[in-house]
Amino acid sequence: MKQSDVVIVGGGPAGYVAAIRASQLGSKVILIEKDSLGGTCLNRGCIPTKALLHSVGILESARQGKDYGVNVGEIIIDFAKMMSHKDAVVKTLVTGVQYLMRSNAIEVIKGIGKVISPTEVEVDSGQKETIKAAKIILAPGSVPLVVPIPGVDGSGVITSDGVLQLSEIPQSLLVIGGGAIGVEFATIFAKLGTKVTIVEMLPQIIPTEDHELSMSLKGVLERDGIKIFTSAQVRRIEDDPEGDKLISVTTGEGEQKLTAELVLVAVGRKPNIEGLGLEAVGIKTERGRIVVNDRMETSISGIYAAGDAVGGIQLAHVASAEGVVAVENALGKGSAIDYRVVPRCIYTMPEVAAVGLTENQAREKELNLKVSRFPFTANSKALILGQRDGFVKVLSDARSGEIFGVHILGPQATELIPEATLAMKMEATVSEISSTIHAHPTLSEAIRETALDAEGMVVHMPRKS
Ligand SMILES: Cc1cc2nc3c(=O)[nH]c(=O)nc-3n(C[C@H](O)[C@H](O)[C@H](O)COP(=O)(O)OP(=O)(O)OC[C@H]3O[C@@H](n4cnc5c(N)ncnc54)[C@H](O)[C@@H]3O)c2cc1C
Repeated sequence: MKQSDVVIVGGGPAGYVAAIRASQLGSKVILIEKDSLGGTCLNRGCIPTKALLHSVGILESARQGKDYGVNVGEIIIDFAKMMSHKDAVVKTLVTGVQYLMRSNAIEVIKGIGKVISPTEVEVDSGQKETIKAAKIILAPGSVPLVVPIPGVDGSGVITSDGVLQLSEIPQSLLVIGGGAIGVEFATIFAKLGTKVTIVEMLPQIIPTEDHELSMSLKGVLERDGIKIFTSAQVRRIEDDPEGDKLISVTTGEGEQKLTAELVLVAVGRKPNIEGLGLEAVGIKTERGRIVVNDRMETSISGIYAAGDAVGGIQLAHVASAEGVVAVENALGKGSAIDYRVVPRCIYTMPEVAAVGLTENQAREKELNLKVSRFPFTANSKALILGQRDGFVKVLSDARSGEIFGVHILGPQATELIPEATLAMKMEATVSEISSTIHAHPTLSEAIRETALDAEGMVVHMPRKS
């Protein structure tokens, strides 16, 4: 039997970051990973999708080159090369995490971990071995959720894992689910020339985001040729005689039959807790997720959990933050997770990024709300880039200027949101943003202008009468 201070099951952003923190705090750590270090994020999520989006961004620049005095000649899409670039980025980052584990003296065991007692984890790596540890951290992540639609298990119906393995660009793609993952893949393939349709069950795409932002993004995606059905439900997926998929969709206008070469199921992800031994040890679960308190401790003392497996906000940076909190508490440092200020990024073109409350949430709370906006059409850097779609929207307290939420649809929105995140974390007011000198010409000036708008002092917009 092996011994360690901390044993962690799952080497994704929650698990491997927790392992590094435990090592920094002087503990002997064993990390169990059944697949590849980096988890969903590095291997099948954040990183490969953004690598593909970068290729698509270059494609867009090449297409627009002539408008900026750069003629690139015939543009040829080499999809195999795009995929191999993606794979190379993933491989480099996974190797980087392996190196980090070694440099932090973390022992990584490749195998399937299962909790067998409050202080023991069994690892199956062909042969079984038991590891004894005072503290256990569970970070098994999540897997794609596949809803029980008739025909969903047929050929030509894939999840995000499958899309990342395609060898050819599909002629047409129907995406079930207009959340972050659905709209990102829709963007990638629409730019590659695929005929894309999104079917979203709720009344808006990116359903958890601000309504105004969602509606503006919908307009941009539709302009890019993506067909979008909201408040619509896929009922059945069948094969049509041409070899395509025939998809029955209930929309506001009744039942429609749509066809597509491939169907992507992007309706969310479910915690990956099967076979983890939770029931046997008595670890409480609720609707398929591991229940934890704000210290990330499960119902069994000494066993903690973090990341997608605990539900909540399923994002890599949240998983890592939870992993750190879990370890710090396991090792006696009082630490708590603060979900109030979590940046949310959606990598469409232009991008979406937000932090804090949406306008509807702020109105439900009956806050003394001031809504200010600034469009990228009035931002000099956006004009230089030729990316003038979108706007910044700030929700603040009409009296004190306290910021409740910031929402951005626009170029590099995901790189702009940290300013708003830090401002909210530090409980800054709109006047603290507006009185801070921002570099010119930058996209970030749009955030300052929005803060100025909240104070009735916007500069680069016509004066309101
Ligand atoms: C297509 C896509 C795009 C995404 N893009 C973004 C993005 O841009 N930004 C963002 O913040 N988030 C993004 N996400 C979400 C992000 O990937 C997850 O939130 C994040 O990976 C969760 O981290 P985790 O450590 O909890 O779980 P995971 O990353 O899922 O890692 C869990 C690990 O545990 C291992 N494991 C599971 N069970 C066992 C076991 N019993 N024994 C041993 N090992 C086990 C798994 O093999 C896996 O490696 C994306 C997700 C997808 C699918």
